[in-house]
Amino acid sequence: MVLADLGKRLTSAVSNLTHSNVVDEKAFDAMIKEICSALIESDVNVKLVANLRKSIKSAVNLKELGPGVNRKRLIQKTVFDELVKLVDPHNEPFKPKKGRTNVIMFVGLQGSGKTTSCTKLARYYQARGFKACLVCADTFRAGAFDQLKQNATKAKIPYYGSYTETDPVKVSRDGVEKFKKERFDIIIVDTSGRHQQEKELFAEMMQIQQAVKPDQTIMVLDASIGQAAEAQSKAFKESADFGAIIITKTDGHAAGGGAISAVAATRTPIVFIGTGEHMLDFERFAPQPFISKLLG
Ligand code: GDP
Repeated sequence: MVLADLGKRLTSAVSNLTHSNVVDEKAFDAMIKEICSALIESDVNVKLVANLRKSIKSAVNLKELGPGVNRKRLIQKTVFDELVKLVDPHNEPFKPKKGRTNVIMFVGLQGSGKTTSCTKLARYYQARGFKACLVCADTFRAGAFDQLKQNATKAKIPYYGSYTETDPVKVSRDGVEKFKKERFDIIIVDTSGRHQQEKELFAEMMQIQQAVKPDQTIMVLDASIGQAAEAQSKAFKESADFGAIIITKTDGHAAGGGAISAVAATRTPIVFIGTGEHMLDFERFAPQPFISKLLG
């Protein structure tokens, strides 16, 4: 199910109830059931959905509501608030400041959209007056540096990498040092992704983290990750302790419920979402506007 379809289903579940003549226990339960099925079919973690069901039920106690209460409005507001809670970990993400060096490190599995998102983020900040650059610490995958170079050149972003150096820790340290001397505001370090959560990948990630001391580490998650999101994000969290999430490919066929569940599993905010392959297909994420847009 795509994200837009999830939105449509949630909206119609609520409007079926609010447009009906009687708002009784039966109609209310049917709405909750439809909301929960839509979320589960979109790969939102089953436990989270069960919590959401409980919260909606306890916030709207139909039997005890006084006659003056607008039931329909209360239900609409409760559903909205509970959906916002699902994507809001109440943890403020790091905000880079101009006039100092902000190092941002990217982690994630191969193919998740890391390199693409690094460039999108550098371009995003560049467009807002930050002096931004990219460091390619992926010495594992042949072609990784070329890919970053191509993206960076297209977006006119300075970059650093090496065709010959095989130690990613050295490359990232050298790159960050060089750009620090050149007084860049934002230095984004792209690390290598592997197919799985391999021990070496995590060890390497930790070494790079120690070498470049990032102000922020961002984990990139593909929207289609599904129910595996929780375990994977927890594993990354234990090693790299990322402080923000970017969800990519939200324009694809996945509703992204799994990736959304990673927010709750790791209490980490989503900061951006990728909405396509191009540089500008990148949106800032905030819980309330996201849910408003989802519900149309
Ligand atoms: P990496 O291995 O994690 O660095 O992943 P890449 O950045 O190379 O991305 C893998 C593929 O996903 C590429 O073909 C990208 O163009 C594509 N991609 C990345 N982000 C998005 C997105 O938000 N939407 C779409 N449709 N494709 C994306």
